[in-house]
Order: sequence, then structure tokens, then C-alpha cells
Amino acid sequence: MKACLEGVANYILADYLRWSDFDKSKRVAKYVENGVMELMPIADKKHYAFKYVNCHPHNPAKGLSTVIAFGALVDVSTGMPMAISELTLTTAFRTAATSALAAKYLARKNSRSMALVGNGSQAEFQALAFHYLLGIEEIRLFDKDRQASEKLAANLAHTGMKFVIASDVASAVKGVDIVTTVTAEYAKAHIVTPEMVEPGMHINAVGGDSPGKTELHPAILSMGPVFVEFEEQTRIEGELQNVAPDFPVVHLWEVFGKTKPGRSHEEDITIFDSVGFALEDYSAMLFMRDAAKELGLMQSISLVPELADPKDLFAYLGVGSSIPVLMDKVPVEVR
Ligand code: NAD
Repeated sequence: MKACLEGVANYILADYLRWSDFDKSKRVAKYVENGVMELMPIADKKHYAFKYVNCHPHNPAKGLSTVIAFGALVDVSTGMPMAISELTLTTAFRTAATSALAAKYLARKNSRSMALVGNGSQAEFQALAFHYLLGIEEIRLFDKDRQASEKLAANLAHTGMKFVIASDVASAVKGVDIVTTVTAEYAKAHIVTPEMVEPGMHINAVGGDSPGKTELHPAILSMGPVFVEFEEQTRIEGELQNVAPDFPVVHLWEVFGKTKPGRSHEEDITIFDSVGFALEDYSAMLFMRDAAKELGLMQSISLVPELADPKDLFAYLGVGSSIPVLMDKVPVEVR
């Protein structure tokens, strides 16, 4: 887990540092009642990548995950798919790695404690990324479903980190260095309110990532500089939806590249309005591809017809000849 989170974070940082190499766009979203389905494309000169991802907060009641994802890496020079991957786990890794990376530049250097509000699927990954990348040792947990907090504490008992289950958000947040919110509710929720925020805190707001779905009281955004991945997308999907369209923001790539300051004073309040950007999926997919190759875990699947004559697709069907249609070339069912 440590090597994987560090590896994903390193790939993400390296790619944010070459921001201008990428052809970037906000994601294409299809909103439905109680959910969203999104396509997230991005490309540089070598690779085109896309992710499909959803968010359906009522899914757990149906025995399904709130967020699932998959995607592909394509060779720009030929358009041929190079790798196709599950991205549900990878999304959790890359979201947590991005959160910890942002906090490394924005939170106080001696940060040791964090409040983690929302203890569902993403939460263990957030906890581990902050533990391994920042040295966070103590986490106060709060979830409206206490069993979710108990599940998290049990899943991560082996790490030696200290977990305290709080009775409400205010007591989880009181006195910590970093506040991470990763709840899922289709509402403009006020999970964290201004009176809970203390000087020097870093806020990592992860769960608000769709129109009409936010977690912070809007007044919190005026308490310190707000940092974003890709402004065009965050204004539509992030906490920024609740403030004026010209509300000032700083891009993460500018902070990583040291062209703009992150935290200027110990007492500053810093806010990362995370929504998840295609660049992070690109980086994470490349990391997973490279790691899988190194570990001998890549599997070959039949996705593209292999043609004797690239102009003769019809011959592939075997119609009119004695060669049967190859049964391993039919679509695969999702398990
Ligand atoms: P999940 O459904 O597994 O977990 C969400 C948890 O939040 C649940 O345990 C639920 O009980 C809790 N919760 C909901 N409302 C709450 C409230 N008012 N107070 C306290 N707890 C509350 O979902 P998940 O997969 O962990 O995803 C969490 C959120 O993160 C989703 O909204 C998802 O869209 C978002 N997300 C963001 C990014 C990003 O890059 N920013 C990436 C992945 C997921």
C-alpha cells in the first residue's frame, strides 16, 4: 500500500509539473436522478487516456458501490489501446494520493492529526495516504453511520495508527491539523461550518464533486486561499459552485511548480477543493501499467481484431469460408 500510494503520488506530481503538455478538458457528465456518470478524457503527445466513473450515493443500500470506474490508455501515434484497466480501486488510490500530495504543499509541516468525516469506500485510502506520505498518526473519525467508522478502524488496525470515533463533526474536527471530508450526499450540505475551523488548519474537501453536491459552508472558502486541480471543472463541480464565478483560486500545478505560494504562514487556513481531474487518472493508469508489467501481472485480452490484411475486416467474420468465427473475439461480460 505504501509503495503504491507513493508511486501514484510521484507519477501525479511529475505530470502536474508538465501541465502545459496536456490537452485538458472538463469531464463530460450525464446527470440522472440520484447519480452521475462521467467520461474523463486527457492526452499528451504520447498517450490518450479516458476513465468512465459514476457516483450513485444510494447504491450501498442496493449492495453496490457508490463509485465504480474503468478506463483505457491509448497510443496516440496509432490510436491502438495499450492497456485497459479497472479503475475503481485505482480511483481511490489516486484521489488519496492527490489529497496527500496537496496537503504536503499546503498543510503545516508538523501536521500529525486529521479529522476524517465520511468513512465509506474512499476513507481508508485517504487515511493511509496521509499516514504514509505526511506522517499523520492520529485520525478522528466521524460518519453518520457509526458502523462505517468501526469498519475503517478495524480495516486499519494493523497500521498502528490511532483512531478515535467522534460523536459529531465538531468534536472530530476540534484541534486537528487537517480536516478531510469525503461524504456522499446529493445535497449542498454544511458538513463543516466556519466556527469549527481553527487557525492553521488545512481542509481537504473531497466529497463535493458534482453540481448540487458540496460539503463545506460557503463562508469557509473566504477563510483562506482555495486550491484547485482544473479551475474550469471545479467551478462547476466543486465547493466553488457556492461562491461568485470570479472567486480567486490557485492551481495545484502552480504550487507544485513553486510559481505560486501555497501556505504563507503557520496560522493560514488552506482549502483544497478536490473534485478529481483526468490528469490524475492518466498518471495512476500509467503507474498501474508500469507496476503490473514489472510484477508480471499484465494479462493479454482480445479487444481488437487481428487482421491478415488491415483493409479486409470482413474476412475476419469467416463468412463464406470454412474458418469459423473465433469465439474468444466476442464481447466479454462484466463480472
Ligand atoms: P461511500 O458511499 O462509500 O461513503 C460515503 C460515506 O459518507 C458513507 O459512509 C456515509 O454514511 C457518509 N456520509 C454521508 N453523509 C454524511 C454526513 N452528512 N455526515 C457524515 N457522514 C456522511 O462513498 P465513497 O466511495 O467513499 O465516496 C465518497 C465521496 O467522495 C463521494 O461523494 C464521491 O463522489 C467522492 N469522490 C471524490 C473524488 C475526488 O477526486 N474528489 C474521488 C472519488 C470519490
